[in-house]
Amino acid sequence: MSTLEIKDLHVSVETKEGRKQILKGATLTINSGETHAIMGPNGSGKSTLAYTLAGHPKYLVDSGQALLDGEDLLKMTPDERAKAGLFLAMQYPVEVSGVSMTNFLRTAKTEVDGKAPAIRTWTKELNEAMKRLRMDPKFAQRSVNEGFSGGEKKRAEVLQLELLKPKFAILDETDSGLDVDALRIVSEGVNRAKGSTGLGIMMVTHYTRILKYIKPDIVHVFSDGRFVKTGGPELADELEETGYDQYLPEGSDSE
Ligand code: ADP
Ligand code: MG
Ligand code: MG
Repeated sequence: MSTLEIKDLHVSVETKEGRKQILKGATLTINSGETHAIMGPNGSGKSTLAYTLAGHPKYLVDSGQALLDGEDLLKMTPDERAKAGLFLAMQYPVEVSGVSMTNFLRTAKTEVDGKAPAIRTWTKELNEAMKRLRMDPKFAQRSVNEGFSGGEKKRAEVLQLELLKPKFAILDETDSGLDVDALRIVSEGVNRAKGSTGLGIMMVTHYTRILKYIKPDIVHVFSDGRFVKTGGPELADELEETGYDQYLPEGSDSE
C-alpha cells in the first residue's frame, strides 16, 4: 500500500503586484485504492495544489510537505515525481508540436518504468487502450494534443493514465468540457485504472456530475487555499444543493 501525504502546504506565485499566497495550509492524506473528490469554488487554489504536487516551477512552496511513501516529493524534479508514481491529468493539457502521441507515450513509459516496454506487447496495449477510449487509431500518429478538441485532450490524458499505471493520479477537472458520452468513456478509463492497479485518486472538480461515474470514498471542500470540510459521498449531494456560498471567505462573491 502507498500513501500520498500533504502537510500544511503553503504555496505562492510571483505576480506583477508582488508575491501572492494561494495555498494557505493544505493538509490531506490519500491511500492506495482511495478516491478523494476535491470540490471548491473557482479560484480557491485547486489547480495550484495539483501543479505544486506535479512540480510546476511557477508555484513556490513557502512551507509544508508533500510525501509519497515518506519520500519528499517537493525535492524531486517533475520527472522524478512521475517515476515515484505520481501522475497529473491537467485541466488544460498542453500541445506538443512535432512529437507524436505514440512516441510521447513510449518515451514516458520508458522513463517511468526505467526500461523500454517490449515493442509487441506495448503496441497491442496501446491499440487496445485507444480502442476502449474510442480514440481513432490515427491519433497515435498525431502530435500530442495538437488540434485535439477538449474531449480528445481529456481522453489522451486518461490514455496516459491507463498506460503509465501510476500509484496516484491527480485529475484536475477531467470532467470539464465533456459531453455525457465522453464523460462516461473517460470515467470508465479512470475506473479501469482504479480496478487494475489500486490507484489512489485525487479528483479535483467544480461540479458533482462526474461523481456519478467515478464514485468518491471521501469528499473534501476546498476554499481559499485550504481544506475546510471533509465527509463522505453525501457531502457532494449537499454541495449540489447549497453551492459553495457558505464556504467562501468573507467579502468574496460566488460565481
Ligand atoms: P482553482 O483551480 O481552484 O480555480 P487556481 O489554483 O487556478 O484555482 O487559482 C487560485 C488563485 O491563484 C486564483 O486567484 C488565480 O488567479 C491565482 N493564480 C493561479 N496561478 C497563478 C499564476 N501562475 N500567476 C498568478 N496568479 C495565479
Ligand atoms: Mg479554475
Ligand atoms: Mg483549476
